[in-house]
Amino acid sequence: MPLPPLSTIGIIGGGQLGRMLAMAAAQLGYACHIYAPEAQSPAAEVARHWTRAAYDDAAALAHFAASVDIVTYEFENIPAGPITTLAATHAVAPAPRALEIAQDRVAEKSFVDGLGARTAPWAAVDSLADLEAALARIGAPAILKTRRDGYDGKGQARIMAPGDAATAWETIGGKPAILEGFVSFEHEYSIILARGHDGAIACWDAIENVHVDGILDSSTAPACPVILAQADEARAIAARVAAALDYVGVLTIEFFAAADGPVLNEMAPRVHNSGHWTIEGAITSQFENHIRAICGLPLGSTALAASGVTMRNLIGHEADKWAEILADPRAHLHLYGKPEARPGRKMGHVTRLVP
Ligand code: AMP
Repeated sequence: MPLPPLSTIGIIGGGQLGRMLAMAAAQLGYACHIYAPEAQSPAAEVARHWTRAAYDDAAALAHFAASVDIVTYEFENIPAGPITTLAATHAVAPAPRALEIAQDRVAEKSFVDGLGARTAPWAAVDSLADLEAALARIGAPAILKTRRDGYDGKGQARIMAPGDAATAWETIGGKPAILEGFVSFEHEYSIILARGHDGAIACWDAIENVHVDGILDSSTAPACPVILAQADEARAIAARVAAALDYVGVLTIEFFAAADGPVLNEMAPRVHNSGHWTIEGAITSQFENHIRAICGLPLGSTALAASGVTMRNLIGHEADKWAEILADPRAHLHLYGKPEARPGRKMGHVTRLVP
């Protein structure tokens, strides 16, 4: 049974992804209730209700879940335990198993390897001795990443030579980690798909992503020919991951375009920064299709709405140029209402379509 308009969608996480989800939900006649611990929430500003409480506050979470018709999340670094508990008594989509896997780089790599996806050579690392042994096996260059809580390039250290092991271990704070062999790739891209309760999958065009200082700078569709040549294979892998999780909602998988095909880097069980262009650049946005999927509505078309589209993030003070950006009649400006422009902070984005 689809969830009818006027129902309330609970969103755990209060950032810009929640904001754009809430705006898409409003378009379809739903109300949103945001659950987030921060004092300022870009999502809560555009939603009907807001619970401000810690992610591990079981009582507040239960109260929140009882007041909504379905729970979803826009942030994956929330403790999976309380969400799994909620899912026993309330509708939660995507199911928390996706969250548990995506939160732990070792669990994620084991899971996707088991589905036949290709990943960088990797090893779990719990001590400096483990790291030295893993380096001896995998070789340098390599990247050491914390198993949990890393994002936008944080919690990572590059190891150019075996002698760098101790420094890298210190850089990531000696936390449980994964060592990955360095993948030689020409381009990075993501595959974003929506999967409905009935198993129907809608996938957007492969998206070419450029990172600067570990943070997404721009996303472009259609991607370059190197990516396009392997996009079908990547889409098939993404569909396998979604089916194995019996996933409902939008799922993002990031790939490296290696010379001999896609290498899966990581997955996010949510809408993704590299899909912001879909608001204007696709017939149906990632946000709308996430809402449609979790509410049991038919998925909308993921076809491009123009011959090409590029999204650029506005990081820190780049967002101060809003007047200049708006002087370009082709620019679609999105600002997230964040009061303080710190370096590295995503303040907004701008999308331009190629007619
Ligand atoms: P991640 O947080 O895993 O997405 O890593 C951040 C960025 O570091 C990626 O977008 C890549 O540019 C780079 N990177 C991560 N893992 C690898 C790898 N195994 N080989 C080469 N580059 C990598």
